[in-house]
Amino acid sequence: MSPVTELDLSAVTGQWLNQCGPHDFGLSEYGCACPDGDPRPVIASLVAEVERLRRLLAEPTAPVGPADDERVWVSTARAGIDMHLIAAHGTGCGRSRHAGGITVLAAEAVEGWAGVPCRRCWPVTS
Ligand SMILES: [Zn+2]
Ligand SMILES: [Zn+2]
Repeated sequence: MSPVTELDLSAVTGQWLNQCGPHDFGLSEYGCACPDGDPRPVIASLVAEVERLRRLLAEPTAPVGPADDERVWVSTARAGIDMHLIAAHGTGCGRSRHAGGITVLAAEAVEGWAGVPCRRCWPVTS
């Protein structure tokens, strides 16, 4: 997984967020300890980073779980029951379906019992 950002915040802080006594107290006629140089590149990279993070926050997370019209298996009719992927032998997470349970459309399990996708049948990948 790539780092959240390449921006070295401690370097930015170390260069641009130091105290400047004369400046901070409105006494710049006594000299100034602010760094020389053009702050625009670092401001631009900070702005770009904030924009990137805002886009990430605005993106809806991909739904994880069965499609509404997919058949799923639940062990019993109970509120909040796990919905499991139906596999050739049992469920996607390795449970047996021989003991009973109910096979329904995912939409019905959600509507009827507020079913939630089993995290082992539908692992979160991102
Ligand atoms: Zn200063
Ligand atoms: Zn499962």
